[in-house]
Amino acid sequence: MNDNDSRNETTDFIRDIIREDLASGKHSGTVTRFPPEPNGYLHIGHSKSICLNFGIAEETGGRCHLRFDDTNPTKEEMEYIESIQRDVRWLGFDWGEDLFFTSDYFEQLYAWAEELITAGNAYVDDLSAEEIRAYRGTLTEPGRPSPYRDRPVDENLDLFRRMRSGEFADGERVLRAKIDMASGNINLRDPVIYRILQADHPRTGDAWSIYPTYDYAHGQSDAIEHITHSLCTLEFEDHRPLYDWLIEHLSVPSAPRQIEFARLNLSSTVLSKRKLLRLVKEGYVDGWDDPRMPTLSGIRRRGVPPAAIRNLIAKVGLAKRDSVVDYAMFEFCIREILNMEAQRRMAVLDPLKVVITNYPEGSGEELEAINSPEDPDAGTRMVPFGRELFIERQDFMEDPPKKFFRLAPGREVRLRYAYFITCNEVVKNEDGEVVELRCTYDPATKGGDSPDGRKVKATLHWVSAADAVDAEVRLYDHLFEVEIPGADGDFVDDLSPNSLEIRTGCKLEPSLAAFAPGEQVQFERLGYFAPDTDSTDDAPVFNRIVTLRDTWARIRKQQAQR
Ligand code: ATP
Ligand code: MG
Repeated sequence: MNDNDSRNETTDFIRDIIREDLASGKHSGTVTRFPPEPNGYLHIGHSKSICLNFGIAEETGGRCHLRFDDTNPTKEEMEYIESIQRDVRWLGFDWGEDLFFTSDYFEQLYAWAEELITAGNAYVDDLSAEEIRAYRGTLTEPGRPSPYRDRPVDENLDLFRRMRSGEFADGERVLRAKIDMASGNINLRDPVIYRILQADHPRTGDAWSIYPTYDYAHGQSDAIEHITHSLCTLEFEDHRPLYDWLIEHLSVPSAPRQIEFARLNLSSTVLSKRKLLRLVKEGYVDGWDDPRMPTLSGIRRRGVPPAAIRNLIAKVGLAKRDSVVDYAMFEFCIREILNMEAQRRMAVLDPLKVVITNYPEGSGEELEAINSPEDPDAGTRMVPFGRELFIERQDFMEDPPKKFFRLAPGREVRLRYAYFITCNEVVKNEDGEVVELRCTYDPATKGGDSPDGRKVKATLHWVSAADAVDAEVRLYDHLFEVEIPGADGDFVDDLSPNSLEIRTGCKLEPSLAAFAPGEQVQFERLGYFAPDTDSTDDAPVFNRIVTLRDTWARIRKQQAQR
């Protein structure tokens, strides 16, 4: 990794455990895994797990497997499998040869289920899903045994084999581990480990009529792969006794240890594949990679560099308690990276024409501009200047209030890297709208300084009209207008109507035409931007990644004070 993230110095409770296990000789190396279910696109929450699992492998010279937890064929698709691999790579991680699928273990998992049956540790249950739920009891009441709990081993084996061969319909029977219907932990009240699903699987086709549940498949897959530390989010804490029970009761080749950590939650967005799928399916957004989506593909398309995500994950750290990270912190992490890495360019998003009346007609020149004040190695570039320019409409006021220091009638300002100009005349259309400013320039101020020490109070960005590249620019705001979408009601009711603003006819300095998706740039005074994948050679489209300052937090603070 060639960026400035500092994960090699990271320490946290999981890394402490791993260090101890290596020091004590319990393990001679580490094997971790990132185990997505291919039922949707990855979101920024997943990057916490990715950075943790792959990060630990990197730091300890171990390995991290990418394992698709593909046990639910009704929701899984090849499209998701491909997108997940693309996203993990983009984030900067590499599983090498270690690409696995739980479906590759179906035969072994099945054999172990028969082993459980033979040992009297599992039984086929004919109760319906609803009945099983009713028999399960509650947190305060013990469960009741199913009438099928004490089926003889031979009958269980026979039925289980017939389940496999497709003799029964979905939901007609299940295989359950026989543990303890009175356990204080509901997960141990004879959990279902196999269910009938007459569904084609993206990888195994119609070979199977039964599929293992997550709880059964996960730990055993970990064991098969000799995972040393199986790191997962807190909701699995109560499943750990079941995880351990299965490892103990099966002849698995290794005994991985499950350790839980708090998931990443981010304000003003939703991090759940189910909810994100709904946004896509119901057309609230323009696909999984809509730049407003918290998916890794949306974040990438918007132009966020992957280092910013790693930066966020490192800053958030690991905890055992759930919390919500303010979206503003993510934006801070993006700015921190881009301030160092993005070059500066000039673009005008809401153009107002300026004619320099004393600039010779039909001529032009090139002026030198600094590419990055943070990085002298980034050098300079030449920017065309001419008689007609565009400035930002907001940078002019005909009748300015006291604190407005930018251009106004009779006032002199600096054009960045160019000259001082003075506004002499305001041209309006029939509706009274300002359509053009007529200004004069002072040739002696070339480069932006006055030899006589004259001061101006503002420096504006600008683009030469004759050379400008026309572009569409998409400005994004939070997808949701509340911090916790769905806190009271349906989360889609909290979608913001202002999350996308499209500006057409924006004017770019010509060098911006050379930028391609995956590159980032600062538009001076406006924010960080990146070309969208909708861009064509003739019609560039730029996304605003993030503004320069956190105007959003400031506005919210003002609202709160009101
Ligand atoms: P979702 O709730 O979005 O559907 P999931 O947990 O069902 O997510 P999986 O594909 O099962 O999605 O997740 C793969 C791995 O990523 C799991 O180990 C899971 O714990 C982890 N993970 C998922 N969401 C987060 C999150 N918000 N923060 C940290 N880790 C996460
Ligand atoms: Mg899951």
